[in-house]
Amino acid sequence: MPELPEVEVLTRHLHPLLRGKTIHGVNIRRAKVLAPTSPQGFRRTLLGAKFTGLLRRGKYLLFQLNDKAGGQGLNLLGHLGMTGRMFLAHKQQTLPRHAAVVLDLGRENFIYEDTRYFGRLTLDISATGKLGPEPLSRNFQPATFARALKRSRQAIKVKLLDQTLVAGIGNIYASEVLFRARISPKRAANRLAPGQVKRLWRAIREVLAEAIRCGSTVPLNFGGSKSDGLFYFGRAPEAPDFYEERLQVYDREGQPCLNCRRSIRRMTQAARSTFYCPHCQRG
Ligand SMILES: [Zn+2]
Repeated sequence: MPELPEVEVLTRHLHPLLRGKTIHGVNIRRAKVLAPTSPQGFRRTLLGAKFTGLLRRGKYLLFQLNDKAGGQGLNLLGHLGMTGRMFLAHKQQTLPRHAAVVLDLGRENFIYEDTRYFGRLTLDISATGKLGPEPLSRNFQPATFARALKRSRQAIKVKLLDQTLVAGIGNIYASEVLFRARISPKRAANRLAPGQVKRLWRAIREVLAEAIRCGSTVPLNFGGSKSDGLFYFGRAPEAPDFYEERLQVYDREGQPCLNCRRSIRRMTQAARSTFYCPHCQRG
């Protein structure tokens, strides 16, 4: 499931490909992903609009466009959900079976494909208003982060998934960050010592920044092949597996800890898997 680093890499990849392109046609194949925008409203607003920019906020893609008249700025919000992919493909290419929305950009199509339809492509951007600070920005401050943690009795692993605390961390990077900070995933957020909070704050920034750097080296060969290697973490048949190998604890149950060689364990917290080293993460 794509988290902040994967969405950031995708944003950087798509931005230059989309900038300046005009939407000549809107093909909606799964109206559900537009909610709460209606298909009529979606089509009417986007037809003739031109892409001007693309930003990431948390795990969301924020497409910026000018309307047909060229005067008014529009925002289009994208979320990949569990299995979503967004890419450009040549028009002659057959559309994937699970294409949810296809935007005609002239010689190419912008395709949002989603086998499980948990993602979104909508004109309603209100979801971004509820997000906490961007972890790699100056708005993410240790003091504010510490105060927010003090207000929560949740296990720190579960709290890290709260997008109002800090935006963009999901199940994979929550485990990775806690391993880096040597903090037990079970520790209550409000029981973390000041030194642990500082370590956690730094680990969040380091782990995410490293993942973006690593992800930027993954070839995004979306053109018809499955070998993007990014959103399947190396599990697509032809995909390179180096991206998955980069993870230190996630999905490594029973394998040796890269630090102490004892076995990595898995447990369930809030119905989701947590991976950790009980020896290295005793704090
Ligand atoms: Zn260990």
